[in-house]
Amino acid sequence: MRATVMYAAGDVRIENVPDPEIVEPTDAVVRVTRACICGSGLWPYNSLERSESGVVMGHEAVGVVEAVGGDVRTVSVGDVVVMPFAFSDGTCIFCHDGLQTACVHGGFFGNAEVPGAQAEAVRVPLADGTLYVLPVAEDDALMPSLLTLSDVMGTGHHAAVAANVQRGETVAVVGDGAVGLCGVIAAKRLGAEQIIMLGRHADRIALAREFGATDVVSERGAEAVEKVHELTDGYGAHSVLECVGLDQSTQTAIEIARPGGAVGRVGVPQDEAMPASQPAFFHNITVSGGPAPVRAYIEELLPDVLDGRIEPGRVFDRVVGLDEVPDGYRAMNDRESIKVMVNPT
Ligand SMILES: [Zn+2]
Repeated sequence: MRATVMYAAGDVRIENVPDPEIVEPTDAVVRVTRACICGSGLWPYNSLERSESGVVMGHEAVGVVEAVGGDVRTVSVGDVVVMPFAFSDGTCIFCHDGLQTACVHGGFFGNAEVPGAQAEAVRVPLADGTLYVLPVAEDDALMPSLLTLSDVMGTGHHAAVAANVQRGETVAVVGDGAVGLCGVIAAKRLGAEQIIMLGRHADRIALAREFGATDVVSERGAEAVEKVHELTDGYGAHSVLECVGLDQSTQTAIEIARPGGAVGRVGVPQDEAMPASQPAFFHNITVSGGPAPVRAYIEELLPDVLDGRIEPGRVFDRVVGLDEVPDGYRAMNDRESIKVMVNPT
């Protein structure tokens, strides 16, 4: 089959690789009908060290189950399924707590051990715990929004949950990428009254406003902090969603939270140390978040997607076939595209 292989920073190729097969009796093989390129894939796109074997990329997908192992019980051949970016058994202590990204038998797609989903098909470990069967046909018009349940919508929601978003309160979202935009949807869905988007790309800001952002701050650093305080009677935001992961964005997120407020981090930190330790301490800021257990959130978010109450699929502004995936990485890296959907067939 054909798949997306990244060999080094900037070196993305479409190649023939072995077809995925059932290896463990708990596996499923899924024919990928939709995948996408993730903002987190831009970190390796800019920094991956060259390897001989390369990595099959992609951790977000919707597809149709083609084969299941002998121990798979809840997923059948022909089911339309969403594949969260992490696989999980669904039975361990952390899965029971709704933290599937900490599953004791779990892991992530798109690495040397578990090839990714920017491909014609993908092997899914622990299929019963990982896959979620969708009540739609594979060509359903809602497919873009359903696809976001594999990562960005669940991750934006996790940022809002970790930041303790409450009805009627003030939320700030740091980062105008697909996750930040989904964070706006999540904040609005949870009843936030004022939603301040910190971002600087005109197309993304326009979409953020349609999703429910009430204010936009395009400044950075100290100027951004000042602007958010102006917009919040000098207090800062109750809840801040950090959707970037850089040192400066994290610093800003902590500095714009009001005393007693919370920061929900879902941007993958690019530094070992967390900045703004002193303002976090002196303002009693809760700093929470991490890899989103999107598998746990599908149950809650799916009805709103099916009813059209939320439309996270609008973050996709480009659809490509497999051949154009390398250019899709370039387009997202150049901020020419918010998020690229891949239609592998
Ligand atoms: Zn588990």
